[in-house]
Amino acid sequence: MRTKLLLLPVSAAIIFSSFNQGNENLHHEPYSKKTVIKEEPKFNYISEQFADLRILRYEVPGFNELSLKQKELLYYLSEAALCGRDIAWDQNYKYNLTIRKTLDAIVETSTLDKKSEDYKNFMVYVKRVWFSRGIHHHYGSEKFFPDCSQEYFSKLILSADSKLLPLKSGETVKDFSARILPIIYDPKIAPKKVSLDASKDLITNSAVNFYEGVTQQEAIEFYEQQVDRTSKTPVMIGLNSKLVKENGVIKEKVWKVGGMYTQAIEKIVYWLEKAITVSENAEQKLALEKLVKFYKSGSLKDFDDYNIAWVKDTESAIDVTNGFIEVYEDPLGKKGSYESVVSVKDFEASKRIATIGANAQWFEDNSTLFPEHKKKNVKGISAKVINAVMESGDAAPSTPIGINLPNNEWIRETHGSKSVNLGNIVEAYDQAAGGSVVNEFYYSDAIRKNVLAYAGLADKLHTDMHEVIGHASGQIEPGVGQPHETLKNYASALEEGRADLVALYYLLDQKLVDLGVMPSLDYGKASYDEYITKGLMVQLSRLKLGDDIEEAHMRNRQMISAWAFERGKKENVIERKQENGKTYFIIHDYQKLRALFGELLREIQRIKSQGDYKAGKDLIENYGVKVDQTLHKEVLERYKKLAMAPYQGFIQPKLVPVIKTGKIADVKIEYPDNFSQQMLEYGKNYSFLPVEN
Ligand code: ZN
Repeated sequence: MRTKLLLLPVSAAIIFSSFNQGNENLHHEPYSKKTVIKEEPKFNYISEQFADLRILRYEVPGFNELSLKQKELLYYLSEAALCGRDIAWDQNYKYNLTIRKTLDAIVETSTLDKKSEDYKNFMVYVKRVWFSRGIHHHYGSEKFFPDCSQEYFSKLILSADSKLLPLKSGETVKDFSARILPIIYDPKIAPKKVSLDASKDLITNSAVNFYEGVTQQEAIEFYEQQVDRTSKTPVMIGLNSKLVKENGVIKEKVWKVGGMYTQAIEKIVYWLEKAITVSENAEQKLALEKLVKFYKSGSLKDFDDYNIAWVKDTESAIDVTNGFIEVYEDPLGKKGSYESVVSVKDFEASKRIATIGANAQWFEDNSTLFPEHKKKNVKGISAKVINAVMESGDAAPSTPIGINLPNNEWIRETHGSKSVNLGNIVEAYDQAAGGSVVNEFYYSDAIRKNVLAYAGLADKLHTDMHEVIGHASGQIEPGVGQPHETLKNYASALEEGRADLVALYYLLDQKLVDLGVMPSLDYGKASYDEYITKGLMVQLSRLKLGDDIEEAHMRNRQMISAWAFERGKKENVIERKQENGKTYFIIHDYQKLRALFGELLREIQRIKSQGDYKAGKDLIENYGVKVDQTLHKEVLERYKKLAMAPYQGFIQPKLVPVIKTGKIADVKIEYPDNFSQQMLEYGKNYSFLPVEN
């Protein structure tokens, strides 16, 4: 299972929570007029924007501090990841690789004018295909088309180096062009990657390359026969194969060494075997060995064994998912798309979290809770943050921000699962989102400057405290039931609010500075500006006009912000200002706001500790659910003007080994900034599968 970014990250806290599906990320391009504050990050997170897509970059903090052995391991795992890349292309549609090789050949060798409008339109198509790993939209799954004419496209093919075109033996370029162009241009050919129209045959109406010559009914019957209902440890039937009918016989072509995709899988195995030689510990070594065994045997039992070993590998700094993992692209939900995510534990984040966790009792003792609601023995909850180093296949360029695996239910129940958040990806989204929203919704230059400079770290601290000391704090009075019984449907919004308030209260506490996790209280102030503006305005951009707020995190944020706004009105703690038709919320007294947060925290803890349903309901209903329609409309209009591309993906870092006397002496990390160049490079270096003809 995976979590994808849901619209813009209002606060990183949202990412930690189990916000399940949903994919649209709204982001922004141009800085707005008026007073423009430019962020000056050391790292440039934004590469380019085209069609409905934006290309970002991410950084791997701490890479250079890793040991040589760890860097070597990351390098091998990254190579393994990339070697399987083309499998994901072929799985999406059987002509995707033919088309990609054609596009790559044109981009590299066409002699036609590259400055013409036609060529620019052609390039947008090429980049969309690269992004989607094929000719269907990566998210919407519909086929998309070039904005240049078929005649022009044909000329492009004829102008390319024919040696690089995937011609059939004896085929002329002209014949090839006539064969390939309908696949690209004809809206009737493969209109949908994955059809979910249940009134039609899902398999024959889906372009995905998981089935051939079989109907939906035949596939269902084929797999029905294999189900062992008595098994307590059922494998995920059909996960690693294509189902075909040949000479009237239905059979599976298994993806393994010696089977389908063997050319790529052999390379994956080659690099995994190298990785095994530099593994960090016995658990990791065992997991990698079992993964290799699975790729060699194709046995799904071996895949389960691998997953069990992988779940047990919890101590390693470096981790990898590699295999046929998610089944979202199969209309029947059986076939796993190839993906790999190579990662390294985020040491900074982990250190920060550990520091906060180690002081959990201090935070509990010094909070605003009534004494009887304080825990005498509080233990911080640990949360794991990882940084992506390489993503491939189904996980790139569009990426998950959270991963929870394995998918096999009985393994999850018996052996547990690993749940991680991709810290540097979230950071990149945040950084890339920064400028335009801040310029639009925050009142003064000074506030904007502070938010841009300080809110990044403050957000992380907020998330850490929300998770580590927020949810962990407080105790229920004897005899009072659990919150889901007493507070019912308001329990989760109240609980999220409680955790947020612990974080907010301490974000303005000198303790964080003394602990060395926050440089100064300015960070806390910026986080207050952000919380209030997002809670009262920006988050409304996710909501359709006229709708109430339903999602728990959104409810709690508005509840806290609106309650504090109203409560502090007399003393003008937060001012609501109207200027040039735009609304702003300006904090005038941060310390008083902090005291208000402390007061609300005590009250929500009391509600939880005493199971006061009525008071909890009133808080949420009065402050967290209803939306000011006029303000909502204004927010939607202001947001729309920011012209954000709805989908985003990433250029991957590049790991470059430094070889001395035949051995790897070091591994350097580079951050390419040209999407097209990376796609061409991958196409050249990691293209092992034969094209379908
Ligand atoms: Zn939470």
